[in-house]
Amino acid sequence: MKKLTLFVFLFSFSTINLPQQIRKDIRIPDILGYKTLKCDFHSHTVFSDGNVWPDLRVREAFMEGLDAITVTDHIEYQPHKNDIIKNNNRSYEIAKIKEKEFGVIVIKGSEITRKMPPGHLNALFLKDSAPLDTSDFMIAIKAAVSQGAFIQWNHPFWLNPTFPTKDGKPTWFPVHQELFDNGWMNGIEIVNERAYYPDVYKWCIENNITIMGNSDIHDPSDYFFDYEKGDLRPMTLVFAKEKTEDGIKEALLDHRTAVLHSDSLFGKEEYLKEIFNNSVKLLTEKIIGTKGNTFYVQITNTSDIPIKFKLEKENDNFGLPQRLTLPAQRTIAFSVKPKSKELLGQNNLVMNYIIENFLTGPESNLKVEFTAMVDLK
Ligand code: ZN
Repeated sequence: MKKLTLFVFLFSFSTINLPQQIRKDIRIPDILGYKTLKCDFHSHTVFSDGNVWPDLRVREAFMEGLDAITVTDHIEYQPHKNDIIKNNNRSYEIAKIKEKEFGVIVIKGSEITRKMPPGHLNALFLKDSAPLDTSDFMIAIKAAVSQGAFIQWNHPFWLNPTFPTKDGKPTWFPVHQELFDNGWMNGIEIVNERAYYPDVYKWCIENNITIMGNSDIHDPSDYFFDYEKGDLRPMTLVFAKEKTEDGIKEALLDHRTAVLHSDSLFGKEEYLKEIFNNSVKLLTEKIIGTKGNTFYVQITNTSDIPIKFKLEKENDNFGLPQRLTLPAQRTIAFSVKPKSKELLGQNNLVMNYIIENFLTGPESNLKVEFTAMVDLK
C-alpha cells in the first residue's frame, strides 16, 4: 500500500516532456516605423459551429507565425449547444488563458449572424458579448459600438439573395449604407478563407474602409492549410505602433492594414512599396565588362512573400526578361546582354517592372524601378 502511494506521488510530480510546439515565423518587414503584425480576425470553435476547443486556436496561431487572433463564435448559431453550454463569452475566456504562454494576442470578438441583408458581421474588441444576443440587429450593433467595438462585415457574398447575379457583383444594401453613415462599417473582408472579392476591395478603396483578410476557420487549421508547405491561411497585416491590443485597434481604425492571401498582397501603394523596398534588393549595382557579353544581374528577397515581376517597358538595349519570379527567401540571377553601340562607356541599366502579385487596387499593381550602373568597354 505504501509503495503504491509513493508511486502515485512520484508519477504525479515527475517531469513529463510535452511535445514541442514549433513556430514557423512569417518574415514580412516592419515599415514606416510600424510593426507589421500578422492577424486573423475571424475563427470559430465548438462554442458555435467550429470543431476545435478554443485554446487550440492560440496554439495554431503560434505555430503558423501569427501575432494576434480573434475567436469570433456566432452569437445566434450554436449547433453544439446540446453538448456545450451556450455562453457567448466562454470561448474567449478559454483561449485567453493561452495568450501569455504563446505570446499571441487574443482579442475578444463575436459574429453577429443574420441572413443577407445584413449578413454576418464581426464585432471586435468587445468587453462582453452577452448584450449582443438580441433579435434586433441594430440593437446588437449598438451594443457592440457602445463597448468601443470595431465592426467588420464578413464575406459580403455570403448568402446574398441576389448572388449569383448576372454580373457576379456583391450587393451594398441600404442597411450597409446606414452602418457606414453612422461610422459603424469599420472594416470589410476582401478575402475570406480562399475567396478574394475584387469588387469589395474597390468599395473599401472608394470609401476609405479598412481592408481585412481572414481565415474564418472552423476545422483544425492543418486540415485546411498546409503551412509546412507554405500554404498560409489568409491574414490581415496590421501596421501597428506597438504589439498590443490597443496598438492593433488604433491601426485598424486608422486603416493601416494590408491583406496577404496565398501569394498575393493587397493594400495601399505606400505600404506595399515599403514592404517591397525592405524585402527586395538589387545585388548587382555595377556591371563592368565588354559590349556583346552576357552579364548576370542578381536580386534577392529576404521576405516570405514571393515576388512576380512583369516587364513594364521593353528595353531592347539590354534584352531584359519579360517575367521573373523571385521566390521567398531566395536570390535569383538573370542574364542581360548589352546590344547597342551607345552602351559603350558608363550607362545606367534601368529596369521597370510591374509586381503582378502586389495589388494596390483590383486592377492596379505596384510598379518598381531598379538601376544598375554599367561600364562597358
Ligand atoms: Zn464566421
